[in-house]
Amino acid sequence: MGNNPEEKYDMILLSADDSFMFSCTPSASCFNECCRDISHFLTPYDILCLKNHLKLGSAEFLEKYCTQHTGPETGLPVVILRPAPDEDMKCPFVGPEGCRVYENRPSSCRTYPLARTVSYSRETGRISEQYVLLLQGKHCKGHMENHRQTVREWVEQEGIAACNEMNDLMVEIIALKSSLHPAPLDFRERHIFHTALYDTDNFRHQIFQHRLSEKLNAGPDELQAAESDDTALLKLGIRWVKYAIFGGRT
Ligand code: SF4
Ligand code: SF4
Repeated sequence: MGNNPEEKYDMILLSADDSFMFSCTPSASCFNECCRDISHFLTPYDILCLKNHLKLGSAEFLEKYCTQHTGPETGLPVVILRPAPDEDMKCPFVGPEGCRVYENRPSSCRTYPLARTVSYSRETGRISEQYVLLLQGKHCKGHMENHRQTVREWVEQEGIAACNEMNDLMVEIIALKSSLHPAPLDFRERHIFHTALYDTDNFRHQIFQHRLSEKLNAGPDELQAAESDDTALLKLGIRWVKYAIFGGRT
């Protein structure tokens, strides 16, 4: 699902029980149109799902499919899905039959035609969410289909909740960054952030080969889970970033 920032969308704010008309099927005349002109930021959870779908290690996935940048003001490492090298800037995962990573597509593709925004309360530590309906993407005919669903139904049907849960853990990291560490991350901090959150197979190696586990203050169950479960590993990575960069408790 392309989310080209150059493309202009009208947006309508929706609550969980508001409904909207939309359906996307392979018979749509615009089929696959949304998977070109892409400019996808990938969250750590997106990377984890994609690299496992493709049966690649994290470093290999990042090398093969991503471009990596450093946020100019924050110094935060940012990972972007690299389009295929053609004029259409197609997603590397789109094929004639559609999305080749459909079960593990990135959260923004999963959520479209909605987009989710969140705000974080420093006082309560709570995250509140809002959804907007993106209208008038110039290619998308799905809005003209006579199929209505609520936001809540869409979130459930598309399996968005698991992505949201993991992506929300990153919201706290970003909030910590802006309140406790306004200066750009330095080289060492960027390396910690990148390894713990993006190059997770390397992070697992560091935990178990370099005795990082002692500093992580993780219990035996958490460590055992992180050996084989990438989601459990990413949760430890998020904890490590909080501790090692922002001085939070592990
Ligand atoms: S990951 Fe799938 S749905 Fe998303 S842009 Fe690529 S091909 Fe399209
Ligand atoms: S209906 Fe919209 S989301 Fe579906 S294939 Fe067409 S452009 Fe993509």
